[in-house]
Amino acid sequence: MKERTLVIIKPDGVERNLIGKIIDYYERGGLKITAMKMVRADKALVGRHYPEDDEYMTTLGKKSEKAGEKIKDYKAMGRKIVGWLRTYITRGPVVAMVLEGTNAIQRVREITGYTDPSAAEKGTIRGDLGNDSILKANKERRSAENLIHASGNREEAEREIKLWFPEMG
Ligand code: ADP
Ligand code: MG
Repeated sequence: MKERTLVIIKPDGVERNLIGKIIDYYERGGLKITAMKMVRADKALVGRHYPEDDEYMTTLGKKSEKAGEKIKDYKAMGRKIVGWLRTYITRGPVVAMVLEGTNAIQRVREITGYTDPSAAEKGTIRGDLGNDSILKANKERRSAENLIHASGNREEAEREIKLWFPEMG
């Protein structure tokens, strides 16, 4: 099924001059870029992009546990992480784009790889180009840097495209 999804090259991808390489993974994967811009996200936009809902906070906390951290309260850990995450995403310009293709949401997630670069599969963007880990990041009280945001499902994709590209409704 033809779908569209949102990808953001996070500040570390821009800082490390990886924009071209990253885009190449998606284009070689058969996805079409239908919108793209470089922006400096402000706190309001990022607050809406990563909302602090309980279920999502728990997911973030569980990812720390999966990486080997001892977590008592997932939600409390998630709230800490989302704060670090907002600092990370707003520290410099990002490149936001809409990608289209057959099963674009799932395809883009596969090409991107797992959240924790130290556990991401080789051949994926995070596995090949990522150089951070959740464990190291948590010790340093900051978000894991993993180059990319990619929408997780259809609902997220539609909500995020409207947020970053209001003109695309
Ligand atoms: P994904 O980007 O793979 O969809 P999430 O939506 O769960 O992952 O998390 C959003 C972002 O927050 C991740 O891309 C990563 O930068 C950061 N992050 C997620 N979980 C953790 C964690 N446990 N510790 C540190 N940073 C995290
Ligand atoms: Mg996500």
